[in-house]
Amino acid sequence: MKNTKSRLKIAVILTIIILGLITVLVIVNNMNSETNNETSSGKLPPTEGQPTLGEVNAPVTVVEFGDFKCPACKAWGERVFPELVKDYVDTGKVKFSYINVLFHGEESELGSLAAESVFKNSPDAYWDFHKGLFKEQPSENHDALWITQEKILEVASSSPSIDVEKLKMDFEEQSIIEEVDKDAELVKEFSIEQTPTIMVNGTKLEDPFDYEKIKSLIEKELEGGNK
Ligand code: CA
Repeated sequence: MKNTKSRLKIAVILTIIILGLITVLVIVNNMNSETNNETSSGKLPPTEGQPTLGEVNAPVTVVEFGDFKCPACKAWGERVFPELVKDYVDTGKVKFSYINVLFHGEESELGSLAAESVFKNSPDAYWDFHKGLFKEQPSENHDALWITQEKILEVASSSPSIDVEKLKMDFEEQSIIEEVDKDAELVKEFSIEQTPTIMVNGTKLEDPFDYEKIKSLIEKELEGGNK
């Protein structure tokens, strides 16, 4: 009788210990999944030959993988980008690069082609053109055709430093397609699945609109120095 009782006691104690361990494991697991929202490959996309804003030697690089046809990219450019530029690019802490994503077929390709051409022929006019093209994206029914050669030439014409004739030639000869293909390769290499995808050095943000998170990632990189 005594033996059975003590065995029962041991069984109860063991059960409590096991339940306790399970609880601890679950909590630890949850904590991990909370902190691992962002995926870090540790690898920064190569930004050489990409339009880049800011100091060449800025310690942190932020990369946007974007698409002129994507409404969230337009929204990001209007809401988050100006904050980033004011707080970090203008202060020399961050340089910002843009890589084209072609998730919306021919229109994405045409927009990217035009942007690459402007960047090659009139690099100083690139960011104005970039902003100008996004501005033309309709706020409603954005799936309807709007990126056309006419629209692009219209946007380009408003920048006096853009050589519109060269742009027309690049459309005809498709000579700049290599640059667009290079971006498409990067999209594959970095497993980009949504636009915009924002990367702070090697870390991909889960929510590109979470500016507080962008800030904290930048600050962390600034503290860590140039690793
Ligand atoms: Ca590019």
